Amino acid sequence: MKRYLVEPGEKVDLTKRDPHETGDFKGGKKEGLEAIAKLNQELQELQELLYAEGKHKVLVVLQAMDTGGKDGTIRRVFDGVNPQGVKVASFKVPTPEELSHDFLWRVHKVTPANGEMVIFNRSHYEDVLVVRVHDYVPKDVWSKRYDQINEFESMLAENGTTILKFYLHISKEEQKERLQARLDDPSKHWKFSVGDLGERKLWDDYQKAYEAMLSKTSKKHAPWYIVPADRKWHRDLVISTVLVDTLKGLKMKYPEPKDNLDGIVIE
Ligand code: AMP
Ligand code: MG
Repeated sequence: MKRYLVEPGEKVDLTKRDPHETGDFKGGKKEGLEAIAKLNQELQELQELLYAEGKHKVLVVLQAMDTGGKDGTIRRVFDGVNPQGVKVASFKVPTPEELSHDFLWRVHKVTPANGEMVIFNRSHYEDVLVVRVHDYVPKDVWSKRYDQINEFESMLAENGTTILKFYLHISKEEQKERLQARLDDPSKHWKFSVGDLGERKLWDDYQKAYEAMLSKTSKKHAPWYIVPADRKWHRDLVISTVLVDTLKGLKMKYPEPKDNLDGIVIE
């Protein structure tokens, strides 16, 4: 999955990243779904271990254009994990109280504790994306946020947080189809926001903002992956693989029993 990793310091050009590719994966959708099912089993076991051991914290950040597949990723990749140890934090338009604090205030409160995995559905990166595209704050304010984010994430990492960040990369054509599908299906109307059409008109500005974000904030302790996301199964395969490989790398162990259990007989 190294091909999707943004190397620290790399200058990202999203026009050179194909949202439709399936990379090194040899099979098609059927094989992809089988591989995802196996990875999901592994993820469930690793998450159980993470919770039992209670030593590591895991933060998964999901960012994408509208319809990019953040909700679908959460539903599929994390299917079956134990809700006791996994939380989702969704970041919406900030409330007046949130706006009256620094932009990381609402974020820090919901970062993972020992043994927890937290998935960010949108994140502090909105403060250099939608905020930058719409000039919600002046440039000299948002432009300082890349360094502020890097320092914040370094601090989390130094305090035992494993951070993985995924940008779900879809094409403009794919977004059109997904928006149309939402419009055509009454059960998806709740997801359709007329405002998304205005954001779609700003596609190029958003791509530039994403390129800046990916280029400035991919670090060894908090890497970005650019996930080709036009094909949902391939998106899930990439994210599941990175997650499972990273969790295995933590070399977690079940804790020793609190008492000596030798010779215990239950009557
Ligand atoms: P959704 O993810 O579809 O529920 O939409 C959430 C909305 O909140 C999106 O339009 C985001 O751009 C917006 N949003 C999230 N964070 C911020 C932020 N820090 N400032 C402004 N808008 C935000
Ligand atoms: Mg939306």
